[in-house]
Amino acid sequence: MLTLAKYSVGVGDRFAHQAKAQLQACVLAGAQGVEVIPVWNKSNREHTIIGSEPSSVRASGDAAVKALGWAKPYHVDADHIRLETVDRFLPACDFYTIDVADSIGHAAAPEAVKAFVDRHPELAGTLEIPGVSSPFTTTRADVERVAAKYLKAVQDAGAIYRKIAGAKGADKIIAEVSMDETDAPQTPPELLLILAALADEKVPVQTIAPKFTGRFNKGVDYVGDLVQFEKEFRDDLAVIAFAVKKYGLPANLKLSVHSGSDKFSIYGPMRRAIRDTGAGLHLKTAGTTWLEEVIGLAETGGAGLDMAKEIYAGALKKKDELCAPYATVIDIDAAKLPTAETVKGWTSEQFVAALRHEPANPAFNASLRQLIHVGFKIAAQMGDRYLNMLKTCEPAVSRNVTGNLYDRHLKPLFIEG
Ligand SMILES: [Zn+2]
Repeated sequence: MLTLAKYSVGVGDRFAHQAKAQLQACVLAGAQGVEVIPVWNKSNREHTIIGSEPSSVRASGDAAVKALGWAKPYHVDADHIRLETVDRFLPACDFYTIDVADSIGHAAAPEAVKAFVDRHPELAGTLEIPGVSSPFTTTRADVERVAAKYLKAVQDAGAIYRKIAGAKGADKIIAEVSMDETDAPQTPPELLLILAALADEKVPVQTIAPKFTGRFNKGVDYVGDLVQFEKEFRDDLAVIAFAVKKYGLPANLKLSVHSGSDKFSIYGPMRRAIRDTGAGLHLKTAGTTWLEEVIGLAETGGAGLDMAKEIYAGALKKKDELCAPYATVIDIDAAKLPTAETVKGWTSEQFVAALRHEPANPAFNASLRQLIHVGFKIAAQMGDRYLNMLKTCEPAVSRNVTGNLYDRHLKPLFIEG
């Protein structure tokens, strides 16, 4: 088995120009004595919108590693793949995020549910797990109901995993299972059942991405009950440690937090929990880097600032179309979006202040930020004009990409406190 390190960060590089600036953030963490392994991720949806192929993610990661002399591991993630979309990722990727959220709630065969419940009498009754806030109390009927809800998803994960392992070799891949893109969060007792089922299905899962309580909107802070989040997060860590021993799952199995960028208010609770327990963590980010590109253009001024304004105006015009695929993970208040005409009159400083994620800054505009977050298609349609501007504005862009990832993400999560 290819083994994922204890701390890792998923980074998304929509236009394949920031791998070096992203890797630099991991270099800075290393200089503080903390190993954070980069995983370049790009989903099928992003590839389709941009018109890129997984090989481009591999190529830019390889080039960054060579340029910075990075001697530690790094990975390329086939992000949110399913049986029908995995093929084109097979040559380039060694990390697979197996997305089975769509299978949740699809009934498994009643015999399979019964066999599962018979095989796992330990899941019914009162279960005391070290580190869990209060014992789980469930009946056989509860276990049957939860198994009926998740067993099909786990079986699908098994089928996808076997396809990948068959093509690549089980020892050459890292498997993640994700269930985050669904309506209801998974509770810690549900997570335990899912892990038991994954072990039965012989999926050597190294990271699991449940849906947590609260809202994980794209590119902005967490919205939800912080006390409840911390309790659930710690319970999940305890469940994972227990399941590793009980069901023989990989010893390095850890939580993966998707839409993990910019969730500043939960980094403190997460930091304390992983420090207290010694658990690992995968934080998946993606679009936050694209936003730093736009900040870099605006900060540079002149033609860069003009293009940043053009991107905003284009996104505003196509707002409904751009927001549709992300409807469940954004909260844009249309009344807070300035007109294109207003933005046209902005200075560099005004544009940067509205977009940069500094919640304490009164000029910060979360609605504008989320609109630009989903607006990368506008830049994709500019083609070389956009890519050439990235090169022209490279010093400001890379400074913002590295600074955002290191100062606002890696530092509070893995280094401070
Ligand atoms: Zn996800």
